[in-house]
Amino acid sequence: MTMKKMMRPVMICTVCGVYVYSLYLAGNYCGNRYGAKRCLGMRRLTINLGDWMECDTCDNTGLLIDESYPNCPGCQGTGWLYTRPLPRRYVSI
Ligand SMILES: [Zn+2]
Ligand SMILES: [Zn+2]
Repeated sequence: MTMKKMMRPVMICTVCGVYVYSLYLAGNYCGNRYGAKRCLGMRRLTINLGDWMECDTCDNTGLLIDESYPNCPGCQGTGWLYTRPLPRRYVSI
């Protein structure tokens, strides 16, 4: 099995903390669906060096070996951790 480095996210929602990989929707509301609700947070641009660091828990693979946790919970399965404080705490889903 080849370990591949993950693509870095370019934006993060400041409310629900979801990672975004496309700049196409920059400045828009998050709109991420959680059941019947939608997140009303704003996306923040995070393209500076130092905005992200490689996740140590999964070694930047986004995967955990344990079958019951196929995606790394610390980094949302992306291999990346956001390094800056968010204005609000993540919404618990
Ligand atoms: Zn959101
Ligand atoms: Zn991870």
